[in-house]
Amino acid sequence: MPKQSFSQMLTDIDTIIKQQVIPLEPLFLSQQWEQLYQQMDQIRLQVKAQGLWAPNLPDSVGGMSLSIRQLGQISEVTGQSPLGHYCFGCQAPDAGNAELLHMYANEYIKTNFLLPLAQGEIRSCFAMTEPHTAGSNPTLLDTSAELIDGQWVINGRKWFTTAADGANFTIVMAVTDPDAPKHLRASMIIVPLDNPGYQNLRNIPVMGHSGSGYYSHSEIEFKNCKVPANHLIGEQGQGFKMAQQRLGPGRIHHCMRWIGIANRCFDLMCQHVLQRQITPTSTLADQPVIQTKIAESYAAINASRCLVMETAKIIDEQGFDAAKHHISMIKFEAANMLQLVVNHALQSMGALGMTDDSIIAFFYREERAARIYDGPDEVHKLSLAKSLLKKYL
Ligand SMILES: Cc1cc2nc3c(=O)[nH]c(=O)nc-3n(C[C@H](O)[C@H](O)[C@H](O)COP(=O)(O)OP(=O)(O)OC[C@H]3O[C@@H](n4cnc5c(N)ncnc54)[C@H](O)[C@@H]3O)c2cc1C
Repeated sequence: MPKQSFSQMLTDIDTIIKQQVIPLEPLFLSQQWEQLYQQMDQIRLQVKAQGLWAPNLPDSVGGMSLSIRQLGQISEVTGQSPLGHYCFGCQAPDAGNAELLHMYANEYIKTNFLLPLAQGEIRSCFAMTEPHTAGSNPTLLDTSAELIDGQWVINGRKWFTTAADGANFTIVMAVTDPDAPKHLRASMIIVPLDNPGYQNLRNIPVMGHSGSGYYSHSEIEFKNCKVPANHLIGEQGQGFKMAQQRLGPGRIHHCMRWIGIANRCFDLMCQHVLQRQITPTSTLADQPVIQTKIAESYAAINASRCLVMETAKIIDEQGFDAAKHHISMIKFEAANMLQLVVNHALQSMGALGMTDDSIIAFFYREERAARIYDGPDEVHKLSLAKSLLKKYL
């Protein structure tokens, strides 16, 4: 943990985001990847030198060893730009993968995969969802891994493997014990992506954009893909337990980041309506319907922040298991707050909001998925409602 105060750290991070990261967004929106990554790598070096690298990880692997509440405050600041988390070494899915490996992996995996991942030297991805089975119920998945002569032989197809394009390895969730009870059937295994049994079939076009690098979602295939037995993460058959451990923190990271995105959209909306003349003597900001959008957005952002920080406090004091229902609540609440604020911002900006001249259109198309990934709204609502109803039985 660096020596400066936490509030000074937040100020320093905000300055880097506003002065160095946001100015790179035109390169991102015009898909000039090479130039973009070169410049982001420079920022990463500076972030490391300032002791602001990997706020989600413990210092034993080069992170900042922060509480979840402090991480929340940082994620809100880095979330202002889609490039923010990458520049500070805490982008999904690497963040969740590194946390998982830190908790469960053997020494071989920690040395060869976790350490370079935590340092930002390589990227990773997480392959659980399949095109032909319902991702909302991963006990149905059917990608298989069989232990034959000391090697896992993996067969199956996955999709929406975020950031597979250019990643060094994936964590694949596969059925290792088909006859076991449904929550004990699957395991997690590391597959280096230069393996001849692995193929990236395509970057899936999402809302008209195929993306690249860590901003892509791939369909991938394992065909008699062989990896050594020691590539198993944790215990055989514990895949679901570890997936829950990985997704719990992952969900709160997303919620924290979404508040940052909503703040950015709110700022852009307010700045735009104040300068947009609609009559010779008035601007959009003078219109009550626009003021209503601003008030609704502000209230929604603040309500989400209260819930997310309350959840973070429970996690800090009692652990992730105690916060399970709070995490379900904020997952759908914050995702819907984000839709409201991005939509209000886009509408207030008119045609400009639809273009890649503003970051709003990117947030509108990319963040619609917030209501689907890491558990759709419906699944979290069902889980929360069931636990609440139990108290009335
Ligand atoms: C942008 C993006 C990135 C992603 N990244 C990854 C990744 O990196 N790795 C990975 O493994 N997966 C990833 N996913 C996949 C994601 O986790 C799944 O899409 C999600 O779990 C839902 O599964 P599904 O798409 O198969 O929908 P289904 O399970 O087929 O469900 C379809 C819809 O049905 C409704 N529904 C589902 N269950 C219920 C229920 N019980 N009751 C009522 N309604 C229900 C919901 O509205 C849901 O959206 C990503 C998805 C997106 C969109």
